[in-house]
Amino acid sequence: MYALPFLDLPPLSAADGRVRLPGSKSISNRVLLLAGLSAGTTRIHDLLDSDDTRVMLQALRALGCGVSGADGVVEVTGLGGTLAVREAQLFLGNAGTAMRPLCAALAVLAATQGGRFELSGVARMHERPIGDLVDALRRLGCHIDDLGRPGYPPLRLHGTAGGVLALQRPIRVRGDVSSQFLTALLLALPLVAQAAPVTIEVEGELISKPYIEITLNMLARFGIAVQREGFERFTIPAGSSYRTPGDVHVEGDASSASYFVALGAIAAHAGRCIRIEGVGSESVQGDIRFVEAARAMGAQVDSGPNWLEVRRGQWPLRALSLDCNHIPDAAMTLAVMALYANGPTRLTNIASWRVKETDRIAAMAAELRKLGAQVLEGADFIEVTPPVRWQPAAVRTYDDHRMAMCLSLAAFNPLAPTPGRTPVRIGDPACVAKTFPDYFEALFGLVQADAADVPVIAIDGPSASGKGTLAGELARRLGYLQLDSGAIYRAAGVAAERAGVDLDDGASVAEVANRMALRFDGERVLIDGQDLTEAVRSERGGLLASRVSVHPAVRTALHALQLSFRRAPGLVADGRDMGTVVFPDATLKVFLTASSAQRAQRRQAQLEARGIEARIEDLRSDLEARDLRDSTRSAAPLKPAEDALALDNSGLDIAASVDLVLQWWARRRPF
Ligand code: C5P
Repeated sequence: MYALPFLDLPPLSAADGRVRLPGSKSISNRVLLLAGLSAGTTRIHDLLDSDDTRVMLQALRALGCGVSGADGVVEVTGLGGTLAVREAQLFLGNAGTAMRPLCAALAVLAATQGGRFELSGVARMHERPIGDLVDALRRLGCHIDDLGRPGYPPLRLHGTAGGVLALQRPIRVRGDVSSQFLTALLLALPLVAQAAPVTIEVEGELISKPYIEITLNMLARFGIAVQREGFERFTIPAGSSYRTPGDVHVEGDASSASYFVALGAIAAHAGRCIRIEGVGSESVQGDIRFVEAARAMGAQVDSGPNWLEVRRGQWPLRALSLDCNHIPDAAMTLAVMALYANGPTRLTNIASWRVKETDRIAAMAAELRKLGAQVLEGADFIEVTPPVRWQPAAVRTYDDHRMAMCLSLAAFNPLAPTPGRTPVRIGDPACVAKTFPDYFEALFGLVQADAADVPVIAIDGPSASGKGTLAGELARRLGYLQLDSGAIYRAAGVAAERAGVDLDDGASVAEVANRMALRFDGERVLIDGQDLTEAVRSERGGLLASRVSVHPAVRTALHALQLSFRRAPGLVADGRDMGTVVFPDATLKVFLTASSAQRAQRRQAQLEARGIEARIEDLRSDLEARDLRDSTRSAAPLKPAEDALALDNSGLDIAASVDLVLQWWARRRPF
């Protein structure tokens, strides 16, 4: 996950490959609650691991459910309909799928068995309406106190044992603000539908009907067969009690699939294909119907029971006007596909966007405008016309996972009908953790960018100047890849020595360098499958590197490998010739130096930390000898690039050096 203040996406030009989706948020949290209310243990496979499911799991633990897990299977031992804990304060973050159903379930349990529960969330959760549900529950006889603004969380639910609910008459609930109110009642009322059936009637036009289908489907799996008349009347049979089905498999998240369907429609051109695994034609999730909308805009989609394959079809995409009531979440993705259409695209009947994680109509309009699009918005629609001129934009994401995932697709602007070539800065990328913690990793695994568009920070300088530490920290702060080119030369030296070739014979060393299969796995260095981290990182490894790196043939052999690190979202490369030879077009070049006395001291401290003793005089003379060899060799000698910024860090600590380079970096960015 990218826990960063921002993540810059370079202009992207194509996408290809396979993605496995995380579990559905809607199914995961329903299954968790049902497992928590059932008797017995439910083994849940492929459960989504995200902020929203984490708060639900915490709530279940606090309520006395057993929760354990191993090998990707979460086991929940439920309450069997009887409260194990009579008092709890539950913090539910910004998870509507936890707040609404828990509110209803705990309200009816407290009212009949006695108890006192407080539900709260983040500030935005306290702005998301729940009044219609609370009213329905109060009419039923539940005791609910508003702890803040009436009609919004936080709430207190309480009651005494033996309380009786008014279940004889139909329970009426509004359906036109959030379908989660109905879902919450459907999940809660089987707990009290023992003596007689319980009927729920929906007032007003029910929105987001497909989510109700998911709820009914999950209820059926836990032994409750709800009868319904259209989407107006739902009856829970008498004698209901939750029974665990034992094992439950959570399908992939169909809303999350929408980003990759869009990715295929936009960027899988010229024989490329995006294969999405985890959902397909047999999905029970309403958002799977996003596929129809994407097809209408031009995507070419094939499907099987639990997979989709998407290619670019019509290009540019077809502008259209579409009623999106049935796919409220996935419809946000259409608003971004609209950037690549042949005219204005209008999405209607989306008033529910205004009460989601943020006011999504306002948020989407504001951010798409920053990119250069023309946007019209109304109470329940949005209309997007593609940019005539793309603007480099630092977009806000409003703590809304879907804003972040949608807006990432704007980075394909080089493909647009009126192309751009601008990076997109995504604010607070970690907000995707709500439903898809590894979204950006998955995206970067599929995308291609023209090398010239991928930013590079080149850090060159002599041994022990602190290049590696600086580069590593910069890469971490920017979410970029890191190339430790010294390690590549070290690996070549180690491989050549192990192969028994003469280190002064450039051609033979180059042959070994060409052949070796080199892999970096975090800190570890694997050569031909063998872990040679120690040998590569040792002082001897450095000496071997400095001997083999003088050969032009060796440098040529390792050139392409170094270039291959230049991938989205960006690269920080450190070495001797990053700015002069390997990445002469680097966006920022830094030449890092420190006095040899300082460097010898730092190296000694490094070695000491690894339990190795070394005399400072020896280290210093070794370093000076290496400097001399590196700077006097004919092939790519160590010298600052003409356009490099010099940084002598003899008197600076790491944090100060990092901050300074980040300031230089900020000046090179267009935001
Ligand atoms: O930076 P490090 O100490 O790991 O580098 C080891 C040796 O590899 C250097 O002394 C230098 O001879 C060689 N090298 C190089 N070009 C690079 C990086 C390292 O010649 N880009």
